[in-house]
Amino acid sequence: MGGCNLACRWCDTPYTWDWTGVGDSGVAYRPRDELHPMAWREVLERLRAYEVPMIVVSGGEPLSQQARLLPLLRALIDTGHRVEIESNGTVVPLPELAGLGVRFNISPKLAHSGDEEERRLVPEALAALAAVPGTAFKFVCRTRDDLDEVASIVDRYGTTPVWIMPEGQTPHEVDRHIAALGDDVVARGWNLTTRLHVAVWGDRRGV
Ligand code: SF4
Repeated sequence: MGGCNLACRWCDTPYTWDWTGVGDSGVAYRPRDELHPMAWREVLERLRAYEVPMIVVSGGEPLSQQARLLPLLRALIDTGHRVEIESNGTVVPLPELAGLGVRFNISPKLAHSGDEEERRLVPEALAALAAVPGTAFKFVCRTRDDLDEVASIVDRYGTTPVWIMPEGQTPHEVDRHIAALGDDVVARGWNLTTRLHVAVWGDRRGV
């Protein structure tokens, strides 16, 4: 999904929103090259053609367009798909969406994203998302200090279960960060994940 309400420095999908080059890459992407409006029924047909059991909706920030997503998500569920939505956790989900049976994978952003705290941590959105059964919270981290920041967010907003994912857009960066984090994550009783697509494909798009 195109467009995002945040502007994380290290965003790995800047081509969905960075039209001015504010991200670390400094590249100003062109919306006319990157965004391709499609009717939801056409999206549905293209997704069904993959013949996969689960669809993950990502972005950008998908919940910025949640009302327009509803017919597509309903149709996917009606045709037997499981649906997961990736979100930065700053948008309160519509009741119709929260009750649809989708799983939310919420990634609240830490200070190293460069986003202001009032924009990246929205208490009412985090509370509403935490109340949806099955929601998981995934934090992008680099150092052990980041884990203290995660603990503070968990204390304040009840954002569990916690998954820690190393930041990195190359296998080397991911390996370095996960090595720095692993022992502490285990000691805190949280879940640790790598970035499998980066290990396999690096920063290639469309995989
Ligand atoms: S919230 Fe996600 S898509 Fe938006 S700028 Fe941050 S990392 Fe990128």
